[in-house]
Amino acid sequence: KSGFISIIGRPNVGKSTFLNRVIGQKIAIMSDKPQTTRNKVQGVLTQNDSQMIFIDTPGIHKPKHKLGDFMMKVATNTLKEVDLILFMINAVEGYGRGDEFIIEKLKNVKTPVFLVVNKIDQLHPDELLPLIEKYQALYPFTGVVPISALEGNNVETLLGQIKKHL
Ligand code: GDP
Ligand code: MG
Repeated sequence: KSGFISIIGRPNVGKSTFLNRVIGQKIAIMSDKPQTTRNKVQGVLTQNDSQMIFIDTPGIHKPKHKLGDFMMKVATNTLKEVDLILFMINAVEGYGRGDEFIIEKLKNVKTPVFLVVNKIDQLHPDELLPLIEKYQALYPFTGVVPISALEGNNVETLLGQIKKHL
């Protein structure tokens, strides 16, 4: 099994931390350089029965970028072409305008989307379900996986879920 995966989400939700953990190299940091129109491979996770190719999606969280329209088309096309989208949110910050912007873009693609609720190490357990329900009311996610990219909680579960959809 092999496929392309795009991780999207507001700045600081933990995308690079997640990639660094699963890829085991510091490749993801590279993608924090100024926006380009090229879609870059951020890392490849090869396991005995699968290969996950993580692709950067520049522009998806940049509503006020100078090249807004063009960047947006590139980003949206990338989202259409990948096999799976991971929409990562910050469990502690909760819903905000950046997420609203991304969800609007997701409505234009048919690619399955997982909601990845990151930083659960900082969240009171009682707050998890209401948070998930709030996002599920906004978009029909194919799956929902709470994780801590920093501490590694549930990351293996997420990889297993990804594999099933490749
Ligand atoms: P990105 O902008 O989405 O790539 O976010 P980063 O991966 O750069 O993470 C932003 C900040 O959040 C860093 O200080 C990370 O250490 C922190 N962070 C990432 N994941 C977690 C997590 O699961 N728990 C906690 N507590 N902090 C996290
Ligand atoms: Mg990053």
